[in-house]
Amino acid sequence: MRAFLLAFIVSAAQVTEPSPLVVGTLSAAPGRTVSGWLEVPDGVDPGTRIPVSVVHGARPGPVLALVAGTHGYEYTSVVALPRVLARLDPQRMAGSVILVHMANPPAFYGRRIYYGPDGKNLNRVYPGKADGTQSERIAFVLTREVIDKATHLVDMHCGDGNESLRPYSYWQVSGNPAVDEASRQMVLAFGLDHVVVDRERPKDPAKSAYTSNTAVLRGKPALTAESGGMGLTDEASVAAQEAGALSVIAHLGIADTPSVKVDNPVWFDRSEVLRAAATGVWHPAVEKMQTVAAGTLLGRVHDPFGKVLQEVRAPFAGEVLYVVATPPATEGEPLAFVAHRLDGEPAR
Ligand SMILES: [Zn+2]
Repeated sequence: MRAFLLAFIVSAAQVTEPSPLVVGTLSAAPGRTVSGWLEVPDGVDPGTRIPVSVVHGARPGPVLALVAGTHGYEYTSVVALPRVLARLDPQRMAGSVILVHMANPPAFYGRRIYYGPDGKNLNRVYPGKADGTQSERIAFVLTREVIDKATHLVDMHCGDGNESLRPYSYWQVSGNPAVDEASRQMVLAFGLDHVVVDRERPKDPAKSAYTSNTAVLRGKPALTAESGGMGLTDEASVAAQEAGALSVIAHLGIADTPSVKVDNPVWFDRSEVLRAAATGVWHPAVEKMQTVAAGTLLGRVHDPFGKVLQEVRAPFAGEVLYVVATPPATEGEPLAFVAHRLDGEPAR
């Protein structure tokens, strides 16, 4: 074993020629930052180009991907990432950061919630398809050029343009103990003090659906963070994204950035998205952060004339983590997200 290890160390030393970090057509030499565009080619519909910065540390270490703007009306991470970039000095870094400033430009510039112009939710089509529609091709390029080149990932979201949301993270439990524990430590490092435990994500890497799940199923610890909503860029929500990203960078030992680690967050062991059973006009009856009992009225869907089509009630006691706070309700789409608070810590 020792001989093997020695041989490994010697051969690793021989091949440790500092090499550039290549993302698409961008190539950052060790100790350098490069910003530019990740091209998504035209296909059955128009392509796009994704703004990316590659900050390649002078010394080797983890490669953290920070993904902003997967949903087009979620702005806090898009505003936060240039602030993170400004704090990074690759000459002093051991490891690298790939910043995806805006994963979904067609949805951002089109001011779209949930879906891109092709009618698909980018955060449900991973790992994507080279010959698919626009959202699928974006996912394909981000999987190959960003996720495959990273060792860790943070997917940065907030409430969409219609969602009033309290800050929280998702800790995904995949069944791979080493990855799950590393993901848990990243969640604590990001610093949001409410954490939803998610054991329900798909297990097939060919149908990973979500950005963070694509990383986790490839053995890369990841988390999804939520801070902000309603199309706002309030300083508290943006600052939480910035501070969380910098804190994960410090946690991974990439740079000596400030930490906002939490030790004892509130954990939620059960959660449910309540959806519209009918298309109509939504009248919420609760606000974000409100504590509800099982059966508490969360709101009603009316028809355009005022007749009640649906009463939405809490399925169990918990907290409202987000509630849709604008009137449109479309059958099948979210109206509220309720989570049940766990006493103590979740099982690993
Ligand atoms: Zn989102």
